[in-house]
Amino acid sequence: MLRFVGVYKSYSPPGYALQNINFSVEKGEFVFITGPSGAGKTTIIKLITREETPSQGRIFFRNTDISGISRRKIYLYRRRLGIVFQDFRLIPYLTVYENVALPLIIQGKKKREVERRTHQLLKEFEIIHKAREFPSTLSGGEQQRVAIARAVSGTPELLLADEPTGNLDPFLSRRIMKLFKKLNLKGTTVIVATHDLSLVEEFGERVIHLSYGKIKKIV
Ligand code: ADP
Repeated sequence: MLRFVGVYKSYSPPGYALQNINFSVEKGEFVFITGPSGAGKTTIIKLITREETPSQGRIFFRNTDISGISRRKIYLYRRRLGIVFQDFRLIPYLTVYENVALPLIIQGKKKREVERRTHQLLKEFEIIHKAREFPSTLSGGEQQRVAIARAVSGTPELLLADEPTGNLDPFLSRRIMKLFKKLNLKGTTVIVATHDLSLVEEFGERVIHLSYGKIKKIV
């Protein structure tokens, strides 16, 4: 489903944020990308979401090299992804409810289906009481839950999460990971970047360990 082939990324030459990254993720896998701060985890996620492009090498999503896709097609490509950004990126002028409903509306789901699914997610993430609020009035942990609910609402082919439990207490972190696992069991491929090794140990199946922009090991 996803393949990195000889990928290098340099933000400010001659230094490299990533060097010679090679890995594949098959459909239905649950993969952690881990490593200390600055190791290159976010850069890998941004390359997959096509926010960044490789300085060298190629990235394939279902056999299409995503570096080569046009601007218009990037939107279509991103609709197939569910993305939990590190900084949430909720839409400030939409309510919590509307943020979570948006991917479903874009997918053209019927009004009743949008309402049913959004309501179910808001309940599942315990943010239903904030449904009519705007993101700016929410705590960091609440915003994170909204961001995750939005990322999964459209049942993406590939779910990407960058430090999705960063603002959550250990109890909620585990609940979120279990929810990712549940989605994964239903067929969504999941890639989670985290420095939290206790989560990786508890939930890890495949783990890509990064160190200073290189793959140290894949287990
Ligand atoms: P991680 O997510 O593991 O903390 P990052 O991918 O954010 O690592 O960063 C990897 C390296 O790339 C770091 O040295 C970081 O300073 C550098 N870097 C990340 N983003 C940028 C950027 N936009 N411009 C310049 N350097 C960057």
